[in-house]
Amino acid sequence: MDKATNKKLFFILLFGLIFSMYQETEAQRTRTKPMPTPAISKTVPSNINFTVSMPKPWTHLLQVEMRVASAQTPAQLELKMPVWTPGSYLIREYARHVQNFSVADAGGNALEWRKINKNTWQIDTKGAKEIVAKYDVYANELTVRTNELNDEHAFFTPAALLMFPKGEISTPSTVKVNPYGNWKVATGLPPVAGQTNTFRAENFDILYDSPFEVSDFKEIRFTAMGKPHRYVVTGEGNYDLELMAKDTEKIIIESSKIFGDLPYNDYLLIVNTRGGGGLEHLNSTALQWNRFGFKPEARYKAFLNLVAHEFFHAWNVKRIRPDVLGPFDYENENYTNLLWVAEGTTSYYEPILLLRAGLITDREFLDSKAALFQQLQDRPGRFETSLEEASFDAWIKYYRQDENAINNQISYYDKGDIVSFMLDVEIRTASDGAKSLDDVMRHLYDEFSKKGRNFTPEDFQKVSELMAGKSLEEFFDKYVRGTEEIDYNSILKGIGLQLLTTRANTNEQPYLGANMTEADGRLTVRSLPAGSPAYESGLNTGDQIVAVDGFRAGQTFLQTYINEKKPGDKVKFSVFRFDQLREMEVTLGGRVSPNYRIAAVENPTDRQKQLYRAFLGNELK
Ligand SMILES: [Zn+2]
Repeated sequence: MDKATNKKLFFILLFGLIFSMYQETEAQRTRTKPMPTPAISKTVPSNINFTVSMPKPWTHLLQVEMRVASAQTPAQLELKMPVWTPGSYLIREYARHVQNFSVADAGGNALEWRKINKNTWQIDTKGAKEIVAKYDVYANELTVRTNELNDEHAFFTPAALLMFPKGEISTPSTVKVNPYGNWKVATGLPPVAGQTNTFRAENFDILYDSPFEVSDFKEIRFTAMGKPHRYVVTGEGNYDLELMAKDTEKIIIESSKIFGDLPYNDYLLIVNTRGGGGLEHLNSTALQWNRFGFKPEARYKAFLNLVAHEFFHAWNVKRIRPDVLGPFDYENENYTNLLWVAEGTTSYYEPILLLRAGLITDREFLDSKAALFQQLQDRPGRFETSLEEASFDAWIKYYRQDENAINNQISYYDKGDIVSFMLDVEIRTASDGAKSLDDVMRHLYDEFSKKGRNFTPEDFQKVSELMAGKSLEEFFDKYVRGTEEIDYNSILKGIGLQLLTTRANTNEQPYLGANMTEADGRLTVRSLPAGSPAYESGLNTGDQIVAVDGFRAGQTFLQTYINEKKPGDKVKFSVFRFDQLREMEVTLGGRVSPNYRIAAVENPTDRQKQLYRAFLGNELK
């Protein structure tokens, strides 16, 4: 899914002064899981052809012509725009960008139409065998799940551009693109022989899973596991296409070793060198990466992490599908408790693939995991929301994080990554190295995906238990369905590791517990971890801090000033709240902030050493 952009929000929320204590609360919720309504097929499918044009890129208007021909024309034809696109679990209301809608029969006679809800255009066909609908879509937002047209390129997400006739999700269609000037067209859809820039989709699920990039892009083609792959990159930047192709091939090889094959005929990686993030598709991915973010090495490795993430999705979520995630309901939320597997497990495999490909070391892997543990342990929200709840509520929470997210939410990416790591270690330990999480993924691919079945949360637990050779009921109860503190050390010791929360200084440091943001010379409270001194003293998110003990407040000053105080000292804050000046006193707390590190246990046994080596490819040290 759609990754880095949202992860970034979490990091912003975490950035600030110091973090804190928390108040434990239990949230137990029950719910029913609505299933998407199946599409009703007509007996005779229509013949559907789209033409997408962009004659004036500077207007940001993509022009769509949609021809629907049918031997059995209904009296009223309903054309629908999806409200979301798979992989990004938020209702985005793509219909709001549609304008200049008109419709006629093949002879050019205008037909009457009306909107009957937010995303449906109802047309009186008057028996016409072919109707021609035309509309423009305003495209001026570059993300991996929206559209952008400007004088550099067109990127479009078909679910955000192309309508489907009601009940015809299974009908094939073609898309002809009229590029601007000398631009080229790239998409994962197969071309129609003999027709320029025309592509065919077997059904709307495939159409909506195939983004388009149209520009004067740079490209490199390469072969991996005998199949054609290519990068197309729009925008200047400090990237090295040869190196990207070489390293991506290594990632592809390592992924295919887990699953046994490559599940497509060819694969396209679209890169735009602005912003950040990625979205997985059936045989392609759309990526965004800052144009100067391909160097130095650490930032390039972060890019490869993103590539590995989206690539692993070619199996996990695109083919190994959680219950309701495909075929999709494009008009409503599609609820699942399994996004933590779809996204968290995929995130877990990013560095695993890089490690196996020789692109990072076991130490880099363990350091990244220690940082992730620390991030989770600094979120009071971990006692509020379980992985399953976070998955289910993605539609109303994950993409809409506010200042309280740190206190009532966790990320199903980050905690899902951690719990996947813990599960992998559990399986390796319990099976004495015979099985691992790879076997779980492989089994889901062979026994579910290849047999046309989606998997449920119960299936995932059962397959994990099959590989572990023991019940994992307690593990799933505590860490997947529940909100218990993760007992890292009891799990990690299986492979000879321990989590050390070392303290550079055992003296308590003065602690305020408010995350600040500074912009245009204004210092503002961004979030407050529940239970922190600032939280308990009545500071609010949104308060603008004007002065501290009478001194003008800036981020750096405040940090230095607090650090020079002692726990128990009182500090007077002058703040603007709703344009009114107020004074508040905060009694500073005290805290020892630990530094998380994963290290070898003392005197590891041969078995621990062996399991570590089999897992991370190096000697335990
Ligand atoms: Zn993802």
